[in-house]
Amino acid sequence: MTQKKIAILGAGPSGLAQLRAFEAAHRAGVKNLPEIVCYEKQNDIGGMWNYTWRTGLDRNGEPVHGSMYRYLWSNGPKECLEFADYSFDEHFDRPIPSYPPREVLKDYIMGRIDKRAIFNYIRFECPARWVTYDDQTEKFTVTVMNHKTGDQESEEFDYVVVATGHFSTPNMPYYEGLEQFPGRVMHAHDFRDALEFEGQDVLLVGGSFSAEDIGTQCYKYGANSVTISYRTNPLGFEWPEGIEERPLLTHLEGNVAYFNDGSHKAYDAIIMCTGYLFHFPFLPDELRLQTHNCLYPDNLYKGVFFQDNPKLIYLGMQDQYFTFNMFDAQAWYVRDVILGKIQLPDAQDRGKDIQSWLQRQEQLHTPNECIDYQASYVRDLINATDYPDFPIEKQAELLKQWLLDKKENIMEFRNKSYRSTITGTMAAELPKPWLAIKDDSLEGFMSLKFIEAKA
Ligand SMILES: Cc1cc2nc3c(=O)[nH]c(=O)nc-3n(C[C@H](O)[C@H](O)[C@H](O)COP(=O)(O)OP(=O)(O)OC[C@H]3O[C@@H](n4cnc5c(N)ncnc54)[C@H](O)[C@@H]3O)c2cc1C
Repeated sequence: MTQKKIAILGAGPSGLAQLRAFEAAHRAGVKNLPEIVCYEKQNDIGGMWNYTWRTGLDRNGEPVHGSMYRYLWSNGPKECLEFADYSFDEHFDRPIPSYPPREVLKDYIMGRIDKRAIFNYIRFECPARWVTYDDQTEKFTVTVMNHKTGDQESEEFDYVVVATGHFSTPNMPYYEGLEQFPGRVMHAHDFRDALEFEGQDVLLVGGSFSAEDIGTQCYKYGANSVTISYRTNPLGFEWPEGIEERPLLTHLEGNVAYFNDGSHKAYDAIIMCTGYLFHFPFLPDELRLQTHNCLYPDNLYKGVFFQDNPKLIYLGMQDQYFTFNMFDAQAWYVRDVILGKIQLPDAQDRGKDIQSWLQRQEQLHTPNECIDYQASYVRDLINATDYPDFPIEKQAELLKQWLLDKKENIMEFRNKSYRSTITGTMAAELPKPWLAIKDDSLEGFMSLKFIEAKA
């Protein structure tokens, strides 16, 4: 049997999950594993969790990938993204609170990586430039720019796994008068430090997670006022004085923004929290996933195998209630298909399966239904592989509780603690409210005197 060859594009949580899945098979003594090359645009692993101060272009002139910012804390309970094969207890040796800051979560994600083993596969500073598929040879050719050598390189592969993320290329709307606005206009992708907006009146355009989180950040770090402008529905939280919601922005005159309820207000800065585009400039039309942000993108069997060519695989392309453990579930499934342990059905049956998920998706009306839907998707995947079984349904219940906790108090939900569904450990409590903790560093967080949970 000839050895297969796989290209993984991206070494963020999804790409790392794929590497880890093969590494787990290697440790379990599986023979004839494929040869793997992982091409990563940045100079380190971690993807989005790899904070960068840069905006615009990176040092190689490539678009900066990172959209995360200073003072970012987990926006959901860590108990809902815990790896089934590597618990928070194992990593930190003691209970920590449920909503850690970015550096702490990054430390956890990296903690299970055997860097010596994994780094062998990765070629850093090698953005994928172009991918083609030859029907005759049934092989892909992947061309990358190797910024370390200054050369473009091409190699042939049997499979390509696209794990390049989809929260990086801004969807930037236009509003009349923006070109005359005298203050800063930026997309959430370029937001780095809320302190920049201290004392300012800030307008956030968009009614989703980014607006909610950047809005509370700006409030926490001293913005004078925050307005969130929504298109269809307000976020609807009980905001503290200083944060408000207004309907759709219609236009700007100088520094004054006008909304479609007839109201207006002057601002110092505008941040577009208007989402991201799925952007695969390295893929030709016939291989390119075309979707918007949703729980089940069309044309992906099991949410991962490209219907027109299932040797092309997309990881982590879903809108995400579940993150790291969903990427694991996908990666383990993909690994077993590549290893021949799971047989892919023919195109017609794959199409039927995709349709049944799409139909179910159309019936979703509430966030709770969406959570259950994504949990059932992850369940479907983990049932088919040897990924350690874990109570995804219990994690779904925690996510529902998280929504209630946010509804109860958007400024205080991060003070809550939840029980791990993997180890049964109750999370510790923060010694003071999240709003009062300004240091988001790993050292700062781990030096806090956490309060042991009562139950
Ligand atoms: C502001 C923000 C806050 C978030 N907060 C949370 C949170 O609190 N909890 C949570 O679970 N999730 C959160 N997420 C979701 C987050 O995206 C996922 O947790 C996770 O990072 C997705 O992993 P990924 O590997 O699919 O993509 P990414 O993390 O985006 O990684 C993709 C990788 O691909 C590389 N790449 C891109 N293009 C190329 C190319 N052409 N060639 C080679 N490599 C390439 C990138 O450099 C990157 O390393 C947040 C996202 C954002 C934007």
